[in-house]
Amino acid sequence: FLILVTGANGFVGTWIVHHLLENGYSVRAAVRTKEKGQYLLETFKSYGTKLQLTIVGNMTEEGVFNGAVQGVDGIIHTASPVGTVADDPNELIEPAVKGVTGILLSALQYGSGIQRIVFTSSCAAILDTSDKEVTVSEKDWNDQRVEECERLGRDASGLSKYSASKTLAERAVWDFYLKHREEIMWDLVAINPPYIFGPIIHDVTSPDILNSSSKRWYDALVHNDFRGLSPATHPGHGWVDVRDVAEAHIKALTTPGAGGERIIVSAGSWVWQDMINAASTLPGSIYKRHPDARFQGGQSRAITFNTEKADLILGLKFRSMKELAYDILLDFTKRGWYP
Ligand code: NDP
Repeated sequence: FLILVTGANGFVGTWIVHHLLENGYSVRAAVRTKEKGQYLLETFKSYGTKLQLTIVGNMTEEGVFNGAVQGVDGIIHTASPVGTVADDPNELIEPAVKGVTGILLSALQYGSGIQRIVFTSSCAAILDTSDKEVTVSEKDWNDQRVEECERLGRDASGLSKYSASKTLAERAVWDFYLKHREEIMWDLVAINPPYIFGPIIHDVTSPDILNSSSKRWYDALVHNDFRGLSPATHPGHGWVDVRDVAEAHIKALTTPGAGGERIIVSAGSWVWQDMINAASTLPGSIYKRHPDARFQGGQSRAITFNTEKADLILGLKFRSMKELAYDILLDFTKRGWYP
């Protein structure tokens, strides 16, 4: 099977490419430039011709995926702006929405062999913050952030802009799917992960250029920097290991019952204090606690994501926070970024 992966040079994308190759798939990796693809070819050179590149440039341009979808059996679309500091919400919304509607249109017109498309959505398209304790599921949508961006425009928060981009992109996916259902041979799965962390295998030469979620983990655990928020109550959301997210995408590609579903992929609710506590149980040779960090209780985690579907449909088992912290710290240590 040949699978097209977009955003293949990103944090999540590179792990998905790795898992696909490990599981015997051939991969067509979509990247913006040849230079960005070079690192992938180098990293996965032992797989030879099972990995090929397709250069797509900026996915806001029309028809960029027309060639990329030809001859593939499935698509995993991860590409979307993450961590972009935008003034105008449309700087995030436009590429997120145009990117996915563009690839779906290319699939409709040129992807005659496609059986399934997996879209990387986010729990941000379900709920990002809450004042009170709530449990949410795939039935919920984060439309309030879309309204906030419409109302406040440039004054909306960075989180609002990102969440609106993911909500609108996923809404566009399901609208397209329903509209063209009679004409297409493929079906669709949306994967909704919360904060994704884990060791890094994509091209990062220093902590300054880490992808957004990994940078937050680095700042929090290495520098005790929580961006002015309390580690006892923030983010009060879900977390998941990037390797489990990669596995979820591959299972979503092949599990018949996943077709037509959005599926939350979350290992549990958490706040930064939980991560500090998990790291504190590791050997001192791995985690050297920051002098201002404490091992303590008293956490309050606002949002719980219902993960019944991930269990029942995909049969996913999640890595523990302790394993996650161990593997990230080991990775940072090997790179000379820690302690
Ligand atoms: P990265 O920033 O590491 O990867 C994003 C990828 O999207 C990169 O390959 C990037 O290419 C590509 N991309 C962005 N904009 C464009 C564009 N206009 N044209 C072409 N390619 C583009 O982020 P992650 O790996 O963390 O995120 C991957 C996906 O997972 C995203 O859809 C994100 O919303 C989702 N997600 C991530 C979470 C997290 O905590 N990390 C949580 C939940 C969902 P380039 O390198 O050239 O910019």
